[in-house]
Amino acid sequence: MLANVSVPASHRQVRTAIPGPISSALQQRRSRAVSAAVTSTLPVYITSADGGLLHDVDGNTYIDFGSGIAVTNVGHAAPAVVDRVKDQVERFTHTCFMIAPYEGYVEVCEALADLTPGDQEKRSALFNSGAEAVENAVKVARAATGRQAVVVFDHAYHGRTNLTMALTSKSVPYKHGFGPFAPEIYRVSGSYPFRDGLTGPESAAQALDRIDKQIGADQVAAVVIEPVQGEGGFIEPAPGFLPALSQWCTRNGVVFIADEVQTGFGRTGDWFACEYEGVVPDVIVTAKGIAAGLPLAAVTGRADLLDAVPPGGLGGTYGGNPVACAAALGSIETIRDQKLVVAARRIGTIALPRLRALPTDTIGHVRGRGAMLAVEFVKPGTREPDAELVRRIAKTCHDAGVVVLTCGTYGNVIRLLPPLSLPAELLDEGLTVLADAIRTAV
Ligand SMILES: *Cc1c(COP(=O)(O)O)cnc(C)c1O
Repeated sequence: MLANVSVPASHRQVRTAIPGPISSALQQRRSRAVSAAVTSTLPVYITSADGGLLHDVDGNTYIDFGSGIAVTNVGHAAPAVVDRVKDQVERFTHTCFMIAPYEGYVEVCEALADLTPGDQEKRSALFNSGAEAVENAVKVARAATGRQAVVVFDHAYHGRTNLTMALTSKSVPYKHGFGPFAPEIYRVSGSYPFRDGLTGPESAAQALDRIDKQIGADQVAAVVIEPVQGEGGFIEPAPGFLPALSQWCTRNGVVFIADEVQTGFGRTGDWFACEYEGVVPDVIVTAKGIAAGLPLAAVTGRADLLDAVPPGGLGGTYGGNPVACAAALGSIETIRDQKLVVAARRIGTIALPRLRALPTDTIGHVRGRGAMLAVEFVKPGTREPDAELVRRIAKTCHDAGVVVLTCGTYGNVIRLLPPLSLPAELLDEGLTVLADAIRTAV
């Protein structure tokens, strides 16, 4: 089935009801072919995308405030990514790095050593998805320390594989009915300033006391943490929380693993969110924004840790695929050349005051850094989450041609993840649509 327009619009344009007739027909086909367990935020089918715009089969064009969940940080079809991928596809698509290596893999690992926080000697290993990389970071920490326990936090999201389901906090839809889960995973409270009202050091003391009393520091292989929590609600920890945890890890020989799958590659206005408080993780996990949508993920960390795993202990058929590596190099080049880390900060500087000015008592908290922004909705005058309101606001935005995503343990957060390259006019227009949607929904 082909789109009924050949030249996509260069601006937001809603020509049909959402979904339009061609998308509706595809939804029918989908329901007979695709598992109902795999869902989509929008009921429309995309034919092309460029910059900050998505074009659907019915000729509708959307402003993209989702970036495929913080993946296309450089925008859709960024020329450096497209050129490098085309060139690589024509030369070869796969050898398996474990059989016959190629330069692109090495170049990506060199770039990761250069870009990630800290000037210690580093090594990387490449994988296919965020979850796979998180699993491998845990393998590295266990192999290097000879310990087993792994500490994770309330509201954490680390993936959907068996080990990462155990690390992830939320039951429905990620874990419910999928057990038994991996052992030796311990969950403690994190820092959620809007809901716990604690300072960073207070939250850290609470978590560390539990670790000391309930697990024992000398049993802990790793603390795994998102420096700004993603799926759990775009929760920025209170100042001092991350540094306190990181220092405790250093004192106790525990590997501090920063899961920067969602926060990485300029998203928060730093190359990596840990930099905001000067935290240098022992191991950093990246994926999503690394390769503009091609499947790639990485574990990067102290050389002594990554090299502690015996030869052959890390790998996989596709990990560090040459086409994905080409995309990563194009994406990193684009972030550098177009100064997209600074652009992310600019997005936050423009958007936060506008979100904070929204005159409604259903907004509990507006937060975020750079281009990772969130609005948490509550029942008026309370802290009680209002997920139903959020669903209505999101739907109104989608129907008006703006892709916004929701998140949060309570499903009551609208999150904004625009491409870092989003032009100011599109940012402005998308925010106006969101503001109108909020005003009409409450
Ligand atoms: C998305 C995400 C993951 C899982 O990545 P996949 O590529 O979906 O496996 C892990 N950690 C964080 C913080 C994420 O946002």
